[in-house]
Amino acid sequence: MCGIVGYVGKQKATPLILEGLKRLEYRGYDSAGVVVLQGGKFDVAKKIGRVANLEKEVAQHHLSGTYGMGHTRWATHGGVTDANAHPHVSSDGAIALIHNGVIENYAKIKKFLLTKGYSFKSETDTEVLCNLIAYHYAKEPLATNGDSRFVESVRRTLRHAEGTYGIVVMALDAPGELVTARKGSPLILGLGDGESLVASDVSAIVSRTQSVVYLKDGEIAHLTPKNFSITTLGSDAVEPVIDTVTWSIADSEMGEHAHFMEKEIFEQPIALENAMRGRFSEDGSTAQFGGLNISAGEFRTIERFMFCACGTALHACMVTEHLIESFARIPVECDYASEFRYRNAPLIPNTLFFVMSQSGETIDTLAAMREAKRKGFKVLAVNNVVGSTIAREADGGIYQHVGPEVGVASTKAFTSQLLIGAMLALYIGRMRDLSFGSGVRYVTALKGAPDLVRKTLLQAPHIREIAKRIAKYHDMLFLGRLSLFPIALEGALKMKEISSLHAEGYPAAEMKHGPIALISDQCPSVFLVPSGEIVNKIISSMQEIKSRKGPIIAIVSEGVELPAGLADETILIPECHEAVLPIVASIPVQLLSYYVAVERKCDVDKPRNLAKSVTVE
Ligand code: GLU
Repeated sequence: MCGIVGYVGKQKATPLILEGLKRLEYRGYDSAGVVVLQGGKFDVAKKIGRVANLEKEVAQHHLSGTYGMGHTRWATHGGVTDANAHPHVSSDGAIALIHNGVIENYAKIKKFLLTKGYSFKSETDTEVLCNLIAYHYAKEPLATNGDSRFVESVRRTLRHAEGTYGIVVMALDAPGELVTARKGSPLILGLGDGESLVASDVSAIVSRTQSVVYLKDGEIAHLTPKNFSITTLGSDAVEPVIDTVTWSIADSEMGEHAHFMEKEIFEQPIALENAMRGRFSEDGSTAQFGGLNISAGEFRTIERFMFCACGTALHACMVTEHLIESFARIPVECDYASEFRYRNAPLIPNTLFFVMSQSGETIDTLAAMREAKRKGFKVLAVNNVVGSTIAREADGGIYQHVGPEVGVASTKAFTSQLLIGAMLALYIGRMRDLSFGSGVRYVTALKGAPDLVRKTLLQAPHIREIAKRIAKYHDMLFLGRLSLFPIALEGALKMKEISSLHAEGYPAAEMKHGPIALISDQCPSVFLVPSGEIVNKIISSMQEIKSRKGPIIAIVSEGVELPAGLADETILIPECHEAVLPIVASIPVQLLSYYVAVERKCDVDKPRNLAKSVTVE
């Protein structure tokens, strides 16, 4: 959450910062702001709403400095107002700050600073931190360890800060320098030609440089146009690891699509191909993964798997649970990462943990992972962003390799998590009792998944027409069973997220135990109807809805014959293997929520109150 960009170099900073902020806007869009240092003073422009509003505001200032920083906010402390927008400048005018995260002990610090004569213009925790840096800056005559006074005053401040932060700081009397530090919020340094950048996401800097350093928790970096150095909160020097970003700027652009979500939905066949590339054994009977860091022998001793994640990724875990239990016959438990981290679950030995997070920065998932590790368990991670905190702290893991996902509502990251979960079930199953022949059939099916997704995407115009008819409703239900129950949950979540239409997901047979009370001609139900032994049970549930005048949208496998007139709308999906079915069935639910959102004129890529990559608790 929240976008951060900082720049020191030869170019005018403001246009570069604004371009970066536009790329990061999906991380927070309550307000945006920029500060540059020019003529011996901080020139600040900030405005509620989108970066486009800020651009208009900036046009009235003449921000020509070559050194500055910008922020898009996802408000946690204080309302969405211009005054609460970042950057904040200390009341003595010496320090400017942008911040992602929450300073939990801000009230206590504020009380202290008021006694020292500092004053406040906003309600944010960030301004408190800003004034505390100014306090230390004014107080520290000299740094003791060779670091600049600027770095040292940030370090001293952070020793008092409880909570999470990714910050960038400027000091009025230190032109051409940025100090940046993190604890729990991602920050990446970009090393350019005579210029240095810092951002909360590589997409904001990849147009200027592909050489990056991923800052770690507890580290402070000092940037000048030509140099950078990293130290820890404890003043130790850090030997930096310079990585090369493989994403290109085109990967995070929309192309001919109306929204990133649309682009990412239609990109799924390629995304799936990328996620499975090189990950099947030569004999074509199982999956293989490079970075699990756990031997086959160790895997065989595992008696239970525990999956923790949040939101959409948790739905991918629930499908994985179904597949591992079905194909590898090992018990699996899934839990909300936010609950697991606090609930002190009793855990049996020989449990292997998995966490899933597209960004690899989701704070609750990270905390759940740390809790499991603290208890002595190994944790493997499935995540998309290379070099993310979760990827670095996990004992091993699997990258999704689907390129940047910008749409706040996850699509290609979700289906690639489903694919990787299916591959894991195969991998574990083949170590146990799954036969060579079943493994070969499974692999053949997974390899065919991208084409089945392509075929399903051809239904888009038909689904768009259905969306036009259902966009008028206020409530709806998504119903599925077994491996498609999590897809029903995902369909309902998508509809809530981007269409602001109230939707709930249930196992179809649970209808009778409560939700059927909602059914009327004003509450449509989306049924997921695969072929197989349970189809007649699902048809019975549909009849129960029909008898109560509930409109029915059926997402049906091609081989299923529904009684005439039962469904008001039908969307066909190809017949497929059990491991591929959830992937294919996800496509119509994504398209349906996307087109309903378009029909309802919602801001698809920036849904109300949400932001990508949830880095606050
Ligand atoms: N807690 C800060 C605020 O509410 C930072 C928010 C953010 O991460 O965007 O202003």
